[in-house]
Amino acid sequence: MARIGFVGLGNMGLPMAQNLIKAGHQVEGVDVSRASVEKLTAAGGVAVATHKIAAARGDVVITMLPSGKEVREVYLGAGGIVENANPGTLLIDCSTIDVETARAVAAAAEARGLLMLDAPVSGGVTGAAAATLTFMVGGSTQAFTRALSILGHMGKTIVHAGGPGNGQAAKICNNMILGISMIAVSEAFVLAEQLGLDHQKLFDISSKSSGQCWALTAYCPVPGPVPASPANRDFAPGFTAAMMLKDLKLSQDAAGSTGANTALGAEAARIYSRYVESGEAGRDFSGIIRFIRG
Ligand code: NAD
Repeated sequence: MARIGFVGLGNMGLPMAQNLIKAGHQVEGVDVSRASVEKLTAAGGVAVATHKIAAARGDVVITMLPSGKEVREVYLGAGGIVENANPGTLLIDCSTIDVETARAVAAAAEARGLLMLDAPVSGGVTGAAAATLTFMVGGSTQAFTRALSILGHMGKTIVHAGGPGNGQAAKICNNMILGISMIAVSEAFVLAEQLGLDHQKLFDISSKSSGQCWALTAYCPVPGPVPASPANRDFAPGFTAAMMLKDLKLSQDAAGSTGANTALGAEAARIYSRYVESGEAGRDFSGIIRFIRG
């Protein structure tokens, strides 16, 4: 059993922390929201007042925070995790953030003799609850090897993507594919409607043809062909349009700083930005089809 500090008990962090408790670990939770911490204690966790205390007490510290800004603050700010963790502590940031912040935090942690991983996830709140998340992990082999058993209580697929920041790089590249492909699939269904081609017919053909992709076969943006997809429940999320926009912006910031040509990624970010501005930030990202339909 490890003593695990868990900072950020939101939609993702809370079920992830609950799975660590179920696996027999002592989980010491921190969140700026008291209600979130209470949910953790109700599940058998321990409430801790600050991330400073969690860092000083933990064998392992996991963070699941909204963005790079909070991650920088919690790790590197006054009373931060890096300054207060004991040498040898394993730090795992599971938030989706920019590669630059992930690498800066990892360098500061390493300089203090800490083991640091960036380990963003795919699989959403359902995957977090079912402990079936995919972890994309950046950091040293030593840190990765030590983290495997802990991550295994929260996820099913755990991939070492390379050195510090490479987990975040994998996450933003993957979600750029997803944003672009969801728009492509949506445009195809809208065109099919105009051409008098039935949704189910297009699905049956494209899901067995070269247009096949996850946005079509697992998350189809029209009701019917994939009963579990958000299109069947008025695009209740799921994965919100605001989160997709956040990840597309991260991909575009990275493309800007590296000089990579991501013309479709840029266009996808523009389309999602307009969708979010239309008041649909909290709608599932596959609802983009309604925006495309006009
Ligand atoms: P969320 O907003 O529900 O949770 C974030 C939590 O962090 C909140 O409870 C908030 O109170 C807490 N927090 C913020 N600042 C804090 C601080 N300084 N100290 C302590 N706690 C603090 O967000 P979420 O949906 O759980 O997502 C978390 C991360 O996971 C994000 O980076 C997101 O992009 C990523 N992600 C989310 C999903 C999803 O489907 N929700 C899927 C994959 C990845």
